[in-house]
Amino acid sequence: MSKNGPAAEKRFAHDVVEKNSKAVALLNDSIFYFGEIGLEEHETVGLVSDLLRKEGFSVETGVSGFPTGMLATFGEGGPVIALHTECDANPENSQTPGAAEQTPVTPGAPGHCEGHNSNAAVMVAGAIAIKRAMERFALPGRLKVFLAPAEEQLLSRPYFVRDGYFADVDCAFHDHIGGDFSTTYGVTHSGLVSAKFIFHGESVHAATAPWKGRDALDGVVMMDMGMAQYREHMTPAMRAHRVITEGGLQPNVIPGRASIWWYFRDSTAEGARLLFEQARKIAAGAAMMTNTTLEVEVLSAVWPVRGNKTLAELIDGNIELAGMPDWTEAEQEFAKKLQTAAGLKASGLKLSHTPLKGPAVQRAAANDCGDVSWVVPMGRLTFPGNVPEVPFHHWSAGAALATSIAHKGAVAGAKALAGSVIDILLDPSIIARAKETFRAETGDVIYKSLIPDDQKPPVDFNRAEMEKWRDRMRAHYVKEKVEFV
Ligand SMILES: [Zn+2]
Repeated sequence: MSKNGPAAEKRFAHDVVEKNSKAVALLNDSIFYFGEIGLEEHETVGLVSDLLRKEGFSVETGVSGFPTGMLATFGEGGPVIALHTECDANPENSQTPGAAEQTPVTPGAPGHCEGHNSNAAVMVAGAIAIKRAMERFALPGRLKVFLAPAEEQLLSRPYFVRDGYFADVDCAFHDHIGGDFSTTYGVTHSGLVSAKFIFHGESVHAATAPWKGRDALDGVVMMDMGMAQYREHMTPAMRAHRVITEGGLQPNVIPGRASIWWYFRDSTAEGARLLFEQARKIAAGAAMMTNTTLEVEVLSAVWPVRGNKTLAELIDGNIELAGMPDWTEAEQEFAKKLQTAAGLKASGLKLSHTPLKGPAVQRAAANDCGDVSWVVPMGRLTFPGNVPEVPFHHWSAGAALATSIAHKGAVAGAKALAGSVIDILLDPSIIARAKETFRAETGDVIYKSLIPDDQKPPVDFNRAEMEKWRDRMRAHYVKEKVEFV
């Protein structure tokens, strides 16, 4: 920034976002009420694709075989900047915005209780502001905007990376909602392998001739026991957790098929892979013990997320410039009420942004954007669209998501995102610096996708759950049309 303040290009982009605050809010709320779980983000992708197509982006869907994977491109040549984020909700997470107690919009239905609806609104508004500044000021470059399905199942971006969608990208930016306005660098999340172990046996009457059957559920149970014993030998950062997805249908029929779905995590991709390999051995042993056969299906596998230091410094400056929203007394009141209801300290909304500190502390959580961050320098922006400290996937984390808190946070986030990209378009030497820090940060680690080369993504495992609810949820959709002016 010069002593005269931000460049005209950046002021212009901020103005685009500001004068579209209503569109940002409507987009945020529309996606909130769609409440679509992973791989079922059809309404969301439809709306976002329409908006970006209308804006002049060329839009393709079906990226990497995901019907709800979207890539919108604008511009030609380079530098190539990618924006990417998620837009999925969670099962059973329906919550009425503005209610400081658990009040589902549609009881039992899926809903947003983290804020991926706002993630998408920020990315779209940021992309539109950047694109208009590129046009207005003839800034060279190409924007690649990805809507990545099924983040909650850690699913899509490793496939995007494996399939080469980031091969021509110079720098990438990921935006995510939070309770503060901040960025980080270093490794923030863990690596993870998501895999299903399917045991096949033989069904028979459980009372009259059980000796003729082979119980697939026994395979699941023995694998679970084996994993429980193995926990003693896991290193401290390793995590293994599971759900039994098929366990038979009624007690008097020995289950011929049973399955268990595991997540294996560690601080490194290699550690997560080794834990998975151990689990595979345990499962093979379980199958041997129970006379069943085993099929292992890797659903997804992600690398830990890392933030690039050069891009973090860039984002930090743009966060400061965009500034924390001015919260009203009513917003502060609501935030405190919500925090109290969630059993938290009533600290209210943050009054200022969180300046960039040293490298991040790594957490056990994962995000499927991790793979991107090992192939290109990636910056991560946390925008203040939710109430601080509310636990994600809990009803309290859904209560602010279609209120003025999320709206203001999204506007601030879109400005910081657009500003960061415009800085790069104005001064491409930032890319060279980011690539240099990237090389130092990744050192001698060689990225290799944990997903088998020929693996096709699963695309339908949430369909039945979504179809159960969609009609009832449709009654609550936002009627007003989203329009960027
Ligand atoms: Zn998330």
